[in-house]
Amino acid sequence: MQVSEKDIQKLVEQVLANITGQAASNTVSYSASEIALGDGVFTTVDEAVAASKIAEGKMRHVSLEGRRKIIQAMREISIQHAEELAKMAVEETGLGRIEDKMAKNLLAANKTPGVEDLVSTTYTGDDGMTLVEYAPFGIVGSITPSTNPAATLINNSISIVAAGNVVVYNPHPSAKKVSLQTLKLLNRAIVSAGGPENVLTAVASPNLDTSKQVMEHPAIRVLVVTGGGIVVKAAMKTGKKVIAAGPGNPPVVVDETADIVKAGKDIVSGASFDNNVLCTAEKEVFVVDKVANALKQEMLKNGAVELKGFELEKLLKVILVEKDGKYYPNRDYIGKNAEVLLAAIGKKVDSSVRLVIAETSYDHPLIWTEMLMPILPIVKVSNVDTAIEMAVKAEKGNRHTAIMHSQNVTNLTKMAREIQATIFVKNGPSYSGLGFNAEGFTTLTIAGPTGEGLTSARTFSRQRRCVLVDGFRIV
Ligand code: NAD
Repeated sequence: MQVSEKDIQKLVEQVLANITGQAASNTVSYSASEIALGDGVFTTVDEAVAASKIAEGKMRHVSLEGRRKIIQAMREISIQHAEELAKMAVEETGLGRIEDKMAKNLLAANKTPGVEDLVSTTYTGDDGMTLVEYAPFGIVGSITPSTNPAATLINNSISIVAAGNVVVYNPHPSAKKVSLQTLKLLNRAIVSAGGPENVLTAVASPNLDTSKQVMEHPAIRVLVVTGGGIVVKAAMKTGKKVIAAGPGNPPVVVDETADIVKAGKDIVSGASFDNNVLCTAEKEVFVVDKVANALKQEMLKNGAVELKGFELEKLLKVILVEKDGKYYPNRDYIGKNAEVLLAAIGKKVDSSVRLVIAETSYDHPLIWTEMLMPILPIVKVSNVDTAIEMAVKAEKGNRHTAIMHSQNVTNLTKMAREIQATIFVKNGPSYSGLGFNAEGFTTLTIAGPTGEGLTSARTFSRQRRCVLVDGFRIV
């Protein structure tokens, strides 16, 4: 009998699971080559949707208190497995840093709003009472990215389920193992808290075809897509309600009134977080001439390395790809550590280096390309008005995220008005806009193109109005 490598791998996993007793715990076993069915994972989209329909029917009978318990269990399991899922994500996708991925998982688990986000409104008067409540849509289709796989699953699931919906996911194919592991854990938590099975579903082998099937399935009323411009356009074409979280190219403006010591530290911290794969991360800096060198010095003190001339040219040849006059990031370097980028040009640095910085011209491809890697171009400008003007153009009308370091309220207000970003962070790292070490709730799905902004449970709800004429006013 011929035994394949796959069979041996399965056998070893089974034996290990028996020895460690893991099979009986909440750790869902998976093999490197395939994902087991069950706990919400199906072979086809039709099967996943059919299971979702049953779950949807059952969710309608879960009380608000029941939903609260489900959400609490989802938070707890996400916290317990935050590190394991972070490691899996980095191992599978090759993107980002484990400690930062773990921070994102914990952020999503702790700061995604739950049922409390759905605040009903009442209008009373001489003519009676009108009540407006947030109701579920039913089955939501969610397309998730490779850059924050587990964190987006945790965040979307809490938001969508808190509103009483169920979800059919199509995770990014290159992050399927970690995404499906997260989905299985969350489903187990939902069932353990008394909720129905298959509140979250997906197929075991998500790909572009299954993504399209999810988008076009007639039983799915609403889509939430988190990813680049192509998937946003594809979702819009379906004619369904789409909550679209597209790409960003967040500019940073630093004027002469800024606290330069803090600005240098914050910019490096935000731009290097998870190796810059976040759509909200600082992608280019416009700094007023007078303080530019001081800013660079502070960045160098905080883990940045500056590249110039020949060395910069050499790195650009490696990390940028030109096709038909357009520039794209070299996929091999997306989400990699600064050390890896620098090693590509034979420059050895230690692991304390988190970011590469480079002075460039305004028309440089680094300014206009969403690189998703720890390299940050810096443009010196003569005054703050020019910096704001350039930043607005570099943001490309994404209406996503922008950052400014300044102590001048007039300048801050001007930038806020002109850039019209969904998130505008003043005097902090970009991730403050996600409520990380800052006030406000979190989301990993920032819906700029369709205007919902920072998504939460109420985004996944439809408002329903109930009117009682001439009654229920008690005064
Ligand atoms: P991606 O666009 O490659 O993939 C996202 C998802 O869309 C995946 O599940 C993929 O399978 C699917 N997809 C891609 N093309 C498709 C098509 N033609 N039809 C159907 N489905 C399709 O994104 P990525 O590289 O994983 O993530 C990075 C991008 O996402 C960046 O541009 C980043 O700015 C953006 N992003 C935005 C937000 C936000 O909240 N606005 C959050 C995270 C990431």
